[in-house]
Amino acid sequence: MARRIHIRGRVQGVGFRPFVHQLAQALGLSGWVRNAGDGVQIHLEGVAEAFLQRLRAELPPAARIDALDVAELPELDTEGFRILESEEGESGVGEIAPDLALCPDCRVEVAGTGRRHGYPFTSCAHCGPRFTIIDSLPYDRPRTAMAPFALCPECASEYADPVDRRHHAQTIACPECGPRYWLEQGGQRADEDVIERAAELIRQGGIVAIKGIGGFHLACDAGNEAAVAELRRRKHRVRKPLALMARDLEQLRHYAGVGEEEARLLASAAAPVVLLPARGGLAGNIAPGMQSLGFMLPYTPLHQRLMDGLERPMVLTSANRSGEPQCIDNEEAQGELAGVADAWLMHERPILRRLDDSVLRVADGRPRIIRRARGYVPESLPLPEGFESAPSLLAMGGDLKNAFCLLGDGRAVLSAPQGDMQGVAVQRAQREALADYQALFGHQPVAVAVDGHPDYHATRIGREMGLPIIEVQHHHAHLAAVMIEHGLPLDGPPLLGICLDGIGLGSDGALWGGEFLGVDYRSCERLAHFDAVPLPGGEQAMREPWRNLVAHLNQALGWRGVEVCCGDRQGLDFIRLMLERGINSPPASSAGRLFDAVAALLGQAPERQDFEGEAAMALEALAAPYMGDERIFDYGCDMDVDGVIRWRLLWRGLINDTVAGLELGLCAARFHHTLIATLTRAAHSLSEEGDTILLSGGVMQNRILLEGLSRALRDSGRQVLSPSAYPANDGGLALGQAVVAVAIMQGKQSPAQ
Ligand code: ZN
Ligand code: ZN
Ligand code: FE
Repeated sequence: MARRIHIRGRVQGVGFRPFVHQLAQALGLSGWVRNAGDGVQIHLEGVAEAFLQRLRAELPPAARIDALDVAELPELDTEGFRILESEEGESGVGEIAPDLALCPDCRVEVAGTGRRHGYPFTSCAHCGPRFTIIDSLPYDRPRTAMAPFALCPECASEYADPVDRRHHAQTIACPECGPRYWLEQGGQRADEDVIERAAELIRQGGIVAIKGIGGFHLACDAGNEAAVAELRRRKHRVRKPLALMARDLEQLRHYAGVGEEEARLLASAAAPVVLLPARGGLAGNIAPGMQSLGFMLPYTPLHQRLMDGLERPMVLTSANRSGEPQCIDNEEAQGELAGVADAWLMHERPILRRLDDSVLRVADGRPRIIRRARGYVPESLPLPEGFESAPSLLAMGGDLKNAFCLLGDGRAVLSAPQGDMQGVAVQRAQREALADYQALFGHQPVAVAVDGHPDYHATRIGREMGLPIIEVQHHHAHLAAVMIEHGLPLDGPPLLGICLDGIGLGSDGALWGGEFLGVDYRSCERLAHFDAVPLPGGEQAMREPWRNLVAHLNQALGWRGVEVCCGDRQGLDFIRLMLERGINSPPASSAGRLFDAVAALLGQAPERQDFEGEAAMALEALAAPYMGDERIFDYGCDMDVDGVIRWRLLWRGLINDTVAGLELGLCAARFHHTLIATLTRAAHSLSEEGDTILLSGGVMQNRILLEGLSRALRDSGRQVLSPSAYPANDGGLALGQAVVAVAIMQGKQSPAQ
């Protein structure tokens, strides 16, 4: 008998076929292996048991098997074992490997004296770009951005050699036949020693635009405060933290604290930016007001060589004008970055898909993705029990940190972040990305899931598609994303979810964001919530934290409270009028705005925020060193019988403490502690021992809050599920929208439920 094995999972572009080839030969089996649109097919003749065992046990590092089907066939008498050309044809939502960081073998090779010495495009079957160079599936060189680079004889023989690390590596290249870098500066082009020249420019305080894997970056010396200030000035980026690259872990440890889990993530094939506690020694304007720095390690030979030419870390931030998408095209980069960069280090291989660096931090012992992009996208999430017959769906996401989601064939693919949808350029890029993903994955949705907020651009674009629309409540989507990430089945029991967020539209038409919800995939019931406080000036209150301070004080303590804390502020009378008459002051039960208000009271909030969450992040940083202080106590807020959590005692306590001259850090710590204690008490009254509680929403990115609340709930016998591989912020919204929409559609089809 022969066997036909069909494998789905991450099996294309990760050295899987060469691995199968070697394994079959080692076991003396004949047959073939080939890429199919949705995975890999293997034909085996001979006794296959050992093969199947070792296939799973010895899988290449970046490969993953989701499903493996074996069918028995009559023998075909094939001779030997071969790798066949790919099968053309239907693709469906197949699995495409994410871009993989430079592997240890290639790193050694680039540093060595062989023919790839110093070659910036060195890669192999286990490393190199994937998603950003794939034009269409199946993954083979003619359908990638490497197609124009015909293999030289030496590369061709490595490619054909079954025992070579580059056997069937589609990104194979060398200085003889592959793409090259050049440097443009002041209208002049240099082709020799260009990486050394770029490093020299950075050492001298210059700003260099560098074409990487998923887009252009801007680089400068991270130890040079003037260079960083100039970069901020040219890029119109006021205070938002800048990402850094260090040469290696050893250098990184001079500037930041690195735990075991962080070290593992930094060195992983995804090579994300990891937020680490800063130790000083670099320019003070890299992340003003923050106590952490975002570091990554070199993930291409180019980055490695640049870092080898520098004495200290460099700033490496995505190259775009503020609010615009990252540049990916050479001419576009030269135009857009004129006056921003001093020189351009570019190459001739097109970037087919924009993909920023990923950002994460470790909290409560697990990685927490903040921005899920290079190294993770487009890895798919296999859907759990009950979703087997889910139709193809598109979910549009939110307007901040927009990402969309394709669901179909029992899996969900969350797109790369598209940016904030207020900008017309981002909207255009998002439409292009939608079309691109749908073509690449052969995805044809039968319905579109959107947020209920009528003003979201993402919702409007979704409605324009002319397909049936399913509205999903904002915080329901946040919590459903956690449920699906943790593999909860479609028909599980309702759970308690705590969603602490900025602003989202509630099912009653009001603005929500501090919510206790009873949720399953299909439905969502509001059980308790933060007291609703007006947003004086609406949109303006999102950007200006002091407005929330005025509104919170007025609500908790009356106008006298406002006068005690903010009496010297200009324009207060006008705000008072707005609040009294309810002019442009929609009430919102937002947790994010509570953080803004407290940050403003404790002097941590800028007059106008430069980016979402700025004040809240500063407040967290202020509190962190005091969280172990024995003077911490709980101001004693509680939930009313009607399920409303009011913050009057919090405000009274904070004002007493600040008037008494208590350290601001201790006040910030007492605030965090009070929040955790209040949430825990409310959760206790809404759940029973042994229950599972879901946590999500942008505010849950606060590490003190996530860790403190998780610990308190676990200590009282609750299980806690929180976001890890998908963002807690609106970047993860579309994943939740997609699965809620499936549940709603299937609920309609089966009236028995
Ligand atoms: Zn490699
Ligand atoms: Zn070559
Ligand atoms: Fe949200």
